[in-house]
Formats: sequence, C-alpha cells, structure tokens
Amino acid sequence: MNDILPGEVETWQFLETQARRIFQAYGFTEIRVPTVEKTELFCRSIGETTDIVEKEMYTFDDKSGNSLTLRPEGTAPVMRAFIQNKLYALDSVNKLYYLGPMYRYERPQKGRYRQFHQIGAEVLGVDDPKIDAQVLSMLSHYFQEVGIRDIELQINSLGCPECRPGYRKALVDYLQQRLSSLCEDCKRRYETNPLRALDCKSQGCKEATQNAPSVLDSLCASCEDHFSRVRGHLDDIAVAYTVNPRMARGLDYYTKTTFEMVTNSLGAQNAVAAGGRYDGLIEDLGGPSLPGIGFAMGVERLALMLGEKSIEAPRPDLFIAALGQEAGRRGFVLLSALHRRGLHAEMDYEGKSLKAQLRRAGKQKARFVLILGEEELARQAGQLKDMDAGSQEEVPLGAVEELMMEKCRPADREAG
Ligand code: ATP
Ligand code: MG
Repeated sequence: MNDILPGEVETWQFLETQARRIFQAYGFTEIRVPTVEKTELFCRSIGETTDIVEKEMYTFDDKSGNSLTLRPEGTAPVMRAFIQNKLYALDSVNKLYYLGPMYRYERPQKGRYRQFHQIGAEVLGVDDPKIDAQVLSMLSHYFQEVGIRDIELQINSLGCPECRPGYRKALVDYLQQRLSSLCEDCKRRYETNPLRALDCKSQGCKEATQNAPSVLDSLCASCEDHFSRVRGHLDDIAVAYTVNPRMARGLDYYTKTTFEMVTNSLGAQNAVAAGGRYDGLIEDLGGPSLPGIGFAMGVERLALMLGEKSIEAPRPDLFIAALGQEAGRRGFVLLSALHRRGLHAEMDYEGKSLKAQLRRAGKQKARFVLILGEEELARQAGQLKDMDAGSQEEVPLGAVEELMMEKCRPADREAG
C-alpha cells in the first residue's frame, strides 16, 4: 500500500480531472459507494472460483460477527447501490462512474499493489451494441486525451448462458488432454473455471492452450449478431481495436462483449483497463433483469505509463521576497489579499537573505517575484520581476494587487 506524495499527486489529479471531464461529456455521473461491503456480495458476483475470491480478499468479522470485505473492485458495490436505491425506477438508463481505492491481497510488484485505485464506469439498462461501442469509444478517447499512446484495445465476446456452456464443455475436454502442462491453479480449476487457462500467464498454460477452441466459434446467433454490430459501430466511429478470442477476464459475471486496454510497457502487468458486459449480474444480485456493461482502469498503471513526474506542480504566480520586518509585514498583507482573490502567492517565513529567497522563488518556478526591500518600502514601491521575460520594473505597492490580477487572472488559468 502506497502513499501518494506531492510531486506524484499532480499526475493523479490530472488523471482524475480528465476522467470527470470526459465521462461527463458522455453523460456519466459520479456515484460514491462505501469501501466495505458484506463479503457475500463479492462471492456471489465475482464468483467463488476466481483468483479474487479464492485468495485475494481482505475479509474480517466486525464486532457483531458480520463477515465484511474491503472492496476488491467497484462493479459489485455499484450494483448493490443501484438495486438498493432503486435507481432503475428513476431512469431506464443509468450511466455511473466511480473512483477510489480497491484492495487485493496479491504479491506486490511493479504495477500491482494491495491498495490500488480504479476509475471505473458502468452503463445499466441498455443492451444495444451502440452502448458497447460508446463505452469503448469513451475509454479510448480517455487514453488519447491523457496522452497514453502505447496501448491497444482488444475485444472479445464470451457469449451468454445459451452458448457459453457448450464452449466451456469443449474447452474442458480440450484441457483434459493436456492437464500435465497446466499450472497448479489451472489444473485445479480446469473443470470449474476452464476459461482462466486461456489468459493464464504461465508458460505451460500458454503453450497448452495455443490451439484451444475459440469462443468466437461457439457463439449463438444472437451473441454473434451482437458482437458483429459492436464491431460495426466501432468501425463507423473509427475506434481502433483488435479481436482477441483468448481474452477470458478473471471475473465470472461477464457475458458477450469483453475488452482490455493492453500495453507492452509494464512487463507482466499488461492490462491497464478492463471490462465487459454483465447482463445477468443485476438480477443475480436480487435486482430487476437489466443488462449492464462497464470497465475499470488502474490508476497506478496509468500513472506509470505517463511517467510519474510528467505533470508539474503548479507554478506560483508571485513570490514576495521581503527584506526586514516591516517589509515582511506589508508583504504578508499583500500575500493574503492575493490568496483571497485566488492567486497562488508565496513568500519566505524564515528571514532569509535576498539571494536565498530568489533561489527559492526560482526553485518553485514563480512567474513573478516582487522584491520588497527597505529602500523600496520607503518609496511605497517594490521591484516586480517577470521571471519568464527577464524584465524588471518598479511598481507602487498599492498597485501590485490589481496588476497581478491583470497579469495572472485565475479565470484565464481555468479557461486555459
Ligand atoms: P491483472 O491481469 O493485472 O491481474 P485483473 O484482470 O485482475 O488485472 P481487473 O480486476 O479487471 O484486473 O481490474 C481492472 C484494472 O485494475 C486492471 O487492468 C489494472 O489496471 C488494475 N488492477 C487490478 N489489480 C491491481 C493491483 N493489484 N494493483 C494495481 N492495479 C491493479
Ligand atoms: Mg488480477
């Protein structure tokens, strides 16, 4: 579990702000759900034989003996909230997004942590393939806007309760012939969760499943039609993708369209975002029979791809370099007035020399520096240095506030 420190947090804020801005354009609103839920919710939705439920959950009993779990993912809690608050009664289409910490007891390594963060989105109530395409379009738009290029959108269809059992059976039969090559996990669960072997990272499983039957050859007519219409809509709006019939996804609730945003730049942790349709989930959890589709992006992996320090800390508009007690007092009054008007102003609080103060202003990359020495103060003036232009002028003290507002109006910054 990591601290996110100043210097890194700017990247996080950038990733979050862009998500809010872009998701809003596609009609999504935020939902905030608790980080703790009843354990049962995750067992029922994610599935008993998945990695998450088998070995990754932080589960504990509270003082009343209820089994609770720190959420390992966001979809199940959002579905719980959707059902409990009857959001479906307010509108037939719900587009929701969330951001926040998730918890999985995994082996920590680059891009894989025990508390990590996801930004996710869900559309509830629509099975039209246009919505699948819209969700994928929003996801790829997001990657474009935040400047991540080294990424590929892969899509697949996992079928539905009509056609999936037939595929599972074919896959189990296929795996049975090759049990000795599978890793221990896949060997153990090849009958309960055979699809996991398809995207297992162990070398043996990779080789053993090379010629495994493709799920795309087993789709029923309706899943086949749905998938081909999703691809058609993606082509219409020029969203690039590749079809990966081996993508199984780790969670049980997926149906039809599934997808991942995959990169080569993060070693084994190659999925930066993942999601899919889960048409039976809401009903399984006790809600109405409504379809759903969603995804989650891992913020740590997004930040790694951007390069941690790529988003710079905001520059102060003005650094006030005051020399002596009286100048310090006057400087502080000006500083406070600028803060109240929304400017980012800094000063020195340690009585440092002019040289040391200018060094500090430079380190913070202040746009302007106001030098307030005793001589200047006697004239009720200060020296205003424009650090980018390299120019300097004397300005009356009483005029600095308005001048700074003109030069660095917060409104301009917001618009920019
Ligand atoms: P992986 O294949 O890396 O184990 P996953 O299939 O378990 O991923 P999901 O449950 O679909 O992942 O979660 C979606 C995204 O959340 C992942 O693509 C990844 O970016 C991020 N993620 C998942 N687990 C972790 C973790 N332990 N630490 C950091 N990010 C994670
Ligand atoms: Mg995982």
